[in-house]
Amino acid sequence: MATIREADFVQSISDALQYISYYHSADFVAHLTDAYERERSAVARDAIAQILVNSRLCAHGHRPICQDTGIVNVFLKVGMDVRWDTTRIPTELVDEGVRRAYTHPENPLRPSIVDDPLFARENTGDNTPAVTHVEIVPGAQVEVAIAAKGGGSENKSTFAVLNPSDSLVDWVLATVPKLGAGWCPPGLLGIGVGGTAERSMLLAKQALLDPLDMHELLSRGPSNRLEALRLELYEKVNALGIGAQGLGGLTTVLDIKIRTYPTHAASKPVAMIPNCAATRHVHFVLDGSGPASFDPPSLELWPKISWAPGASARRIDLEKLTRAEVKGWRAGDTLLLSGRVLTARDAAHRRIVELLNAGDSLPTPLDFTNRVIYYVGPVDAVGNEAVGPAGPTTATRMDKFTATMLGKTGLLAMIGKAERGAETIEQIRTHEAAYLIAVGGAAYLVSRAVRSARLLAFPELGMEAVYEFDVQEMPVTVAVDSTGASLHSTGPAFWREQIRNARPPITVESKHRRD
Ligand code: SF4
Repeated sequence: MATIREADFVQSISDALQYISYYHSADFVAHLTDAYERERSAVARDAIAQILVNSRLCAHGHRPICQDTGIVNVFLKVGMDVRWDTTRIPTELVDEGVRRAYTHPENPLRPSIVDDPLFARENTGDNTPAVTHVEIVPGAQVEVAIAAKGGGSENKSTFAVLNPSDSLVDWVLATVPKLGAGWCPPGLLGIGVGGTAERSMLLAKQALLDPLDMHELLSRGPSNRLEALRLELYEKVNALGIGAQGLGGLTTVLDIKIRTYPTHAASKPVAMIPNCAATRHVHFVLDGSGPASFDPPSLELWPKISWAPGASARRIDLEKLTRAEVKGWRAGDTLLLSGRVLTARDAAHRRIVELLNAGDSLPTPLDFTNRVIYYVGPVDAVGNEAVGPAGPTTATRMDKFTATMLGKTGLLAMIGKAERGAETIEQIRTHEAAYLIAVGGAAYLVSRAVRSARLLAFPELGMEAVYEFDVQEMPVTVAVDSTGASLHSTGPAFWREQIRNARPPITVESKHRRD
């Protein structure tokens, strides 16, 4: 019989969340480094370099890897011989640990949870509640798997019920391109097959918490059909050419994890959940001897790469930006922005567009004339930071507001991550504007370009309020130019062709033959 003290459990949850906010796991860093070394697409390699440099900076500075510090997912395995020294149930204790971690004075994490989800959508302020699953198992210990899952990748979760004879590979290959780049590849795909609808989704999520071992699997070859299937999917998903940030390249996934469960003879439920460049999770065990301890990894784990803009990068003075200059940008160009940008994301866009559509004026001093919007919800600043980690959020969510923003405000360009929809691209072309991308998962690195931040409007929206950032050489890539050319279309198409011409396809059968 082990006795788990409330204080030990809460502290362990809190410490775990702080730990994963700034440390990528060693297996993730190793796989990402390998992808960096193999990458031949210049923009994709540049994006991976930024993610790796950001990762090392965060490990060193103990600041979050990404501005989206996630929704907390917890899987508890509670031994039948465990006694709890508390009157509170485990889910309440988890939430207490989440609260403590996200309001940490030295490394506050961005609270992203809103309640209720349908109507009020008010931020709970401390990132509670977590999504906690409890399972009773034999033994006298509590096993905890805890993750901070980014919204961009969680939003791309997919479920289907296939016919028993349908191919999982075909479904995955048809589905992944539809996810777009909002899940910030390169990352992982967690796949759950079997059970029921909700079980397959849980399997997919739990699969993402397994260690990355694709390197090992590639070198030793598969020892069973499931491993052969993982290899086949790894090769074929990467052959789609989607690449880092969806810009086209050799690596879209670092690993494919699959879990299965028996299912009904008539069913083949399948679920797929991507995990992003900010893959964050850790496992620990409590046996009653005290709180869990989390050893800091050696900084030697990170590759000694540095990131600097290429010689062809163009320096842009935002204080003098004109539509004529924007028209000179071409998809794929690297820009270094200096001057003022305005921030806004979902909630602020909704407010602004409602005001504009009602014929009302925007609150003073909000003025988008000849300005650039950055889609971002930063982490709160600490110490002498101008702003906490401040990477881009998924631009696709702002598509529904873009026609109004471009048509009624004098806006010149937008900065976000991932692709834009066809109608939005047409709006960008019509208004001779541009869409730029920063690297999702490089939030701390991006934030170092921000010299100051000034609140402009909607303070009640918290991290979604509108700020004016003064940036110095903020690196971005032109993703959609004023002619409507889109890097998220041309990049993957080019690299898919390159890969097709370079490699024979790999199937489960050929993999077995090879072994
Ligand atoms: S890396 Fe991308 S998907 Fe992941 S948490 Fe950050 S912004 Fe969200």
